[in-house]
Amino acid sequence: PIRTRFAPSPTGMFHVGGARSALFNWALARQSAEGKFVLRVEDTDAARNKPEWTEGIISALEWLGIHKEDPHFEGPYFQSEYAEKHHEATALLHKEGRAYYCDCTREQVQQRRDNPHLGYDGFCRDRGLGPGPGRALRFRVPEGGPTVVDDEVRGRVEFDNASIEDFVIARADGSPLFVLANVVDDVEMGITHVIRGEEHLSNTPKQQLLWQELGHQPPVWAHLPVIVNEKRQKLSKRRDKVALETYQDEGYLPEAMVNYLMLLGWSPGDDREIMPWSEMEGLFRVSDVNSSSAFFDEQKLRAFNGEYIRSLSVGEFVDRCRPWLAPEHAPWPEENFDEEVFTAIAPLAQSRVAVLSEIVPNVDFLFLPEPVEDEKSWAKAMKPGVAPEMLAAALDRFADPDLPWEAGALKAALEEVGTGLGLKLGKAQAPVRVAVTGRTVGLPLFESLELLGRERAQERLRAALA
Ligand code: GLU
Repeated sequence: PIRTRFAPSPTGMFHVGGARSALFNWALARQSAEGKFVLRVEDTDAARNKPEWTEGIISALEWLGIHKEDPHFEGPYFQSEYAEKHHEATALLHKEGRAYYCDCTREQVQQRRDNPHLGYDGFCRDRGLGPGPGRALRFRVPEGGPTVVDDEVRGRVEFDNASIEDFVIARADGSPLFVLANVVDDVEMGITHVIRGEEHLSNTPKQQLLWQELGHQPPVWAHLPVIVNEKRQKLSKRRDKVALETYQDEGYLPEAMVNYLMLLGWSPGDDREIMPWSEMEGLFRVSDVNSSSAFFDEQKLRAFNGEYIRSLSVGEFVDRCRPWLAPEHAPWPEENFDEEVFTAIAPLAQSRVAVLSEIVPNVDFLFLPEPVEDEKSWAKAMKPGVAPEMLAAALDRFADPDLPWEAGALKAALEEVGTGLGLKLGKAQAPVRVAVTGRTVGLPLFESLELLGRERAQERLRAALA
């Protein structure tokens, strides 16, 4: 049976690249009845690990739809609990002569080489050292020939064994290195497919040799293309927005995020791009993954998200907005929030927001005691002369008790007021919009005015004139 795995190190926020790897592994595992996706937390770097990062990984996976309760999910396992297995493996490799102790210091190795880029020279290969202080264990890389990695994405990749140094598998204190621990765990967990980021490709020949020397058939390898920004630079957490949590906080829908992430290096093959996970997961083939770098296009992701938002029912949209309307996040006094008013404006907002957090600036004018004062909007719309004239005329018109307080009538009224001052509707509307909502852009003005109510609208026009 197929056994894939996702093996994050809990040393920081959950990277979008990790999310893509997890999804590809998840899709593959779910395609067969017995398939499993193993979550293994590689928590051996005690200095950099934090328990909250581990929790973050689990909740991020959950958000993406990779649930612990799903029968295809196995784990989480923790690498730190497999220390015994790592020791057994290093002991076995030593006993069989596949690894040897080395007491060379870094300086010594460097001094012996004129080219600092060359690795270890094999000095201790045949010295027959036993374990002891200051002695690391090195793997004996075969001398001749290549190591050939058959990669599902990159095809056949040949590594000349002469260019692979005898690499360290256990430090002098006995602790295993990543290359070893990662393989031992994969062997232990019966992993059949290693699907991970391309940055690990250089480890692969070493790891394949370890699989073989430990007496096992290496897994199917698949190295996913790097993800780059608009400057074609590899996404980096210092420069780019890479944390899944950030997208979550901004109000990306998990279904849109999943859809977008699946397309980083893969496509379902026809022209369709917006496709629900339920369809994608069956179509996914790791051998169809493209080896060229994948551009993380935030604008496209936003567009996807907008489409997903528009496809929700209004009720669902209202529910999804809740976290941003809740007292911890919303800028208005809690008691000002009016469920009915929000439900009435929601359909107008739904067609306009690209991410859910944008709901707040779109509706805050309804619940704040006074509209926000956006300086730029104010400068743009409140031109001396025209603006006060327009506001005064509108105020006058709004005072008419025979004017029905309803969007259609309000539009006609403002149009008429504008015409009287020689202004087209757009120009006439602008100062009113800013006076009432605080901003030049927002939801349709007349519906907004209707929901705000006559008195509050008048109050705001007066305040703007003062
Ligand atoms: N812990 C490693 C990482 O996060 C795992 C790499 C792998 O998937 O083998 O990069």
